[in-house]
Amino acid sequence: MSVTRADEWSDRFNVNLAVSGSNSWTVGINLGSGQSLQNSWNANVTGSSGTLTATPNGSGNTFGITLYKNGNNNTPTATCNSSGGGGTTPTTSAPTTTSSGGGGGGSSCSAGYVALTFDDGPNTGTTNQLVNTLRSNNATATVFPTGQNAQNNPSLMQAYKNAGLQIGNHSWDHPHLINMSQSDIQSQLSRTQQAIQQTAGVTPTLFRPPYGESNQTLRNVESSLGLREIIWDVDSNDWNNASADAIRQAASRLTNGQIILMHDWPAATQQALPNILQDLRNRNLCTGHISSSTGRAVAPSNAGGGGTTPTTSSGGGSSCSVSVTRAEDWNDRFNVTLSVSGSSSWTVRINLGSGQSLQNSWNANVSGTSGTLTATPNGAGNSFGITLYKNGNNNTPTASCA
Ligand SMILES: [Zn+2]
Repeated sequence: MSVTRADEWSDRFNVNLAVSGSNSWTVGINLGSGQSLQNSWNANVTGSSGTLTATPNGSGNTFGITLYKNGNNNTPTATCNSSGGGGTTPTTSAPTTTSSGGGGGGSSCSAGYVALTFDDGPNTGTTNQLVNTLRSNNATATVFPTGQNAQNNPSLMQAYKNAGLQIGNHSWDHPHLINMSQSDIQSQLSRTQQAIQQTAGVTPTLFRPPYGESNQTLRNVESSLGLREIIWDVDSNDWNNASADAIRQAASRLTNGQIILMHDWPAATQQALPNILQDLRNRNLCTGHISSSTGRAVAPSNAGGGGTTPTTSSGGGSSCSVSVTRAEDWNDRFNVTLSVSGSSSWTVRINLGSGQSLQNSWNANVSGTSGTLTATPNGAGNSFGITLYKNGNNNTPTASCA
């Protein structure tokens, strides 16, 4: 029984729980004083405070909960009782590999498969590097692009596809779906299915909810579209400015069948990835895909894997464009990631909403604190990010590039 603290907001946090040694278990989760259950996934969870009880719902042995802190930020403890099942301790079968593509270099996969997931792509500043690193290591991954980014970057969607990556759905433009109506959620997910179909020629069967936030309305829409909700076992915290070393450390906790949350855009993730792949090889773990029937990482069953038509980007002209993507959100502030294409010596002007102010920035030189910010390259490439204080204004800023 493992308990892993995951995403965090000012008022609540996620916890991922993984049971081993039994498939018919009962887990008791001891919440801290004041804490209460907001949401759960991949298990039947009863109770709302004190001790919760979780049992399998057919989604496997990994599940998650969202807890309201109500002033108590402690991570709960959990205990596991296996009911029935004899004394077997199944320890998961060693996979008999017939991996066609994307395995793990020349090494064995005797320790099993893990899923590397990269959300929020594709991005002009990072996706080609990501794909090249995976390819040169004979590795694979699961990407969760937004529909908006897919539509704006069709050649990068092709790069994902040509590298044999598994492609899931991550909503159209990364909203807080749990605050939306069923019809708006439906639109977010189905438009993205179409954009991915049109750009990569595949129809996703996996859905990663933005911020890991889910509720019954969302799950109803997912199932109506044939999508399985995929959260994660390990959060790399790359979205929260984790260092390359910290991201590598997080990946070192992965075990057979597990999934790690990473993102397409952070420079530290790109930096960590070669080391992560080497570490996995040393542990006889291979990179796999996520089964839409079990939600676990398994050997990739790539038909397409090696097609290779790398459709490299043109590079030519000097016209510059910038994409603005809303990222993490807290009560008082939010992140925005910006990605410039068409130029590597650019000046981006970012128009903040009234009242908004800059808290932080990364991967660019950013001047100004309110009104219009000016960003120029600092040597970290063409994707960068800012954290803005809302000060009552929750609008996403606009940006232009010269
Ligand atoms: Zn995301």
